[in-house]
Amino acid sequence: MNLILLGPPGAGKGTQAARLVERHGMRQLSTGDMLRAAVAAQTPIGIEAKAIMDRGEFVSDGIVSALIDAELLAMGPEVGAIFDGYPRTAAQAEQLDEILAKHGRRLDRVIELEVDEDELVRRIVGRFACATCGTGYHDSFKRPVTAGVCDKCAGSEFVRRKDDNEQTVRTRMSEYRAKTAPIMPLYEARGIVARIDGMAPIEQVTDALEAIVAAIPGSA
Ligand SMILES: [Zn+2]
Repeated sequence: MNLILLGPPGAGKGTQAARLVERHGMRQLSTGDMLRAAVAAQTPIGIEAKAIMDRGEFVSDGIVSALIDAELLAMGPEVGAIFDGYPRTAAQAEQLDEILAKHGRRLDRVIELEVDEDELVRRIVGRFACATCGTGYHDSFKRPVTAGVCDKCAGSEFVRRKDDNEQTVRTRMSEYRAKTAPIMPLYEARGIVARIDGMAPIEQVTDALEAIVAAIPGSA
């Protein structure tokens, strides 16, 4: 089973990917993580990548491809792959097809966790937490029973995350759209895109994901 899992920040992609890993023994292939690991381990690819990054340049698609190739080889054919943060261009999508084919694999599904941007803004803006015990609150949805006093520990200090604001959420959403826009039409044309409502309760999202996975021929 080979999947691409997509979703903007706030869609719960990390949680769902972790569940796929746990339930199906899949591996999550995040190119950023693989790159950092290769640099740390000083593999030949890692040394080459570090030299490029030290010059302030981006690593080439060739290096990323080599990392994925090595990872798939190490995983063995029975382990499913979840691609995360890759591909981002049509050229990378083509290279991914080639690498997968080389390992006797093919891309089964591109699964996107969708969010409603305005709803996401409403959920994120207004979040705050008790500075003492970390209990989470929200200006609209969950205020302390007594204003200014934590329900759990009676603390009176609260903190807000600096990036829990509308501008940050909307910027992240547009960055996400810019990253996925070049590849979605390719996968749409192949009929392998599946979409899930990422705003639904976490368990419901997992159920929807499991249903998609179960429908993939040869999945177990
Ligand atoms: Zn508290």
